[in-house]
Amino acid sequence: MTTLIRNGIVFPMVPNVADALDPGSVLIDGDHIVAVGAVDELDVDPRATDAEIVDATDHAVLPGLHNCHLHSGLLRGTAESMSLWDWLKAYVDPAHKALTPEIARAASMQCYAEGLLAGTTSVMDMWRFMEGSADVAAELGLRATLVPYVADEAGFDYFESIASNRRLLESHAVAADGRVRTWVGLEHLMYCTRECFAQAVELMDEFGTGLHTHSSESIWEVEESLKRWGRRPIEVFYDRGILGPRTVVAHCVWLSDREIELLAQTGTAVAHCPTSNMKLASGAARVGDLRRAGVRVGIGSDGEKENNNLDLIEEMKVASLLQKVTTLDPTTGDPWDVLALATSEGAAALGLAETTGTLQPGKRADVITVSMRGLHTTPIMHGELFNVAAHLVFSASGRDVRDVWVDGRPLVRDGRALTFDVDRVRAEAQLAAEELFERRAKVLESM
Ligand SMILES: [Zn+2]
Repeated sequence: MTTLIRNGIVFPMVPNVADALDPGSVLIDGDHIVAVGAVDELDVDPRATDAEIVDATDHAVLPGLHNCHLHSGLLRGTAESMSLWDWLKAYVDPAHKALTPEIARAASMQCYAEGLLAGTTSVMDMWRFMEGSADVAAELGLRATLVPYVADEAGFDYFESIASNRRLLESHAVAADGRVRTWVGLEHLMYCTRECFAQAVELMDEFGTGLHTHSSESIWEVEESLKRWGRRPIEVFYDRGILGPRTVVAHCVWLSDREIELLAQTGTAVAHCPTSNMKLASGAARVGDLRRAGVRVGIGSDGEKENNNLDLIEEMKVASLLQKVTTLDPTTGDPWDVLALATSEGAAALGLAETTGTLQPGKRADVITVSMRGLHTTPIMHGELFNVAAHLVFSASGRDVRDVWVDGRPLVRDGRALTFDVDRVRAEAQLAAEELFERRAKVLESM
């Protein structure tokens, strides 16, 4: 099957090239991109002879977006305006105790479906009972890197375990034609013993896979780490051997210069979650300093409960504004920079740079189109006054996404999902959430 996405405003997002093909076309053959170029050129490309033509006039054509830190979940809007640790203790952890595989699956279904409709073609999800998440990702057709929430400290043993992470690696190290992968997950420095870290490193080596964890989200955590180990969190990670090119650390808000150096030296990537960091009043990550040091940075929504949507286009705007206001430098958070975080750099952070993240011949065809026909994205200016990169970051939202392909397969066309029924996903998520809250109430009664 060939598809010609024709006459759009094409953002190839090749690293360090802030330039669009305006107008341009993208030709997909099977699961790959075979050509990206001028409209006239691709119109006469013999490979496009029998292609399905998708008119992308007044649409931005982009690589699919990578959500580098997500927790599938069903708690939106139910525990607002609390401090991070109170919120975890009183609301989130009891919900983990009440979770069942069926509820976890419905949550992944809702989150992945929401993401797909908003242009997210790849998620890194730290969640529970992830055999269900793997099935959902395969069914919906997006890319998913599955990271179980492993924790073993006393009082936190109701999460996933090294043993359940191993089982998921055995069954789903790579699945769904390579679109679904399993990594090793560690919930948090304070939730995992030293031994758990050592076992995680062994698991990574044994399965040749990556590792994902949280760190340095709040000041409290840094102070606690200094108290317990005399070292800051990223230094403890270094000591415990988990930093490296296959590791992604979420948040990284409170970093010292030495910690940034350690991340850069070891090739560790960071998942920046600006909305979550603002909403939980955690602070502002030093994204500019991280990138200047050569650290790969992707963007994450974080969980449904701390965002409260999974709209990565909106997340780009927040990322930009947060940089500007915290550095008092209006030249940071440039639209092209932020677009790179959500596409090419996100893919690189997840170890997918060879596969996806840019629109280039040979890459898998993970492509989205975003309408610029709204009043909020008018006027569209070309040439010297080109403003579509700015529209994407500052004016558009996930609701403007029109089409989504992953591996060349159309998953969303004209804003309609092709691999799932939105009403059914909603109904199932509603029932699952009601059941979860009933079960959580019983957990809270027994505490
Ligand atoms: Zn998180």
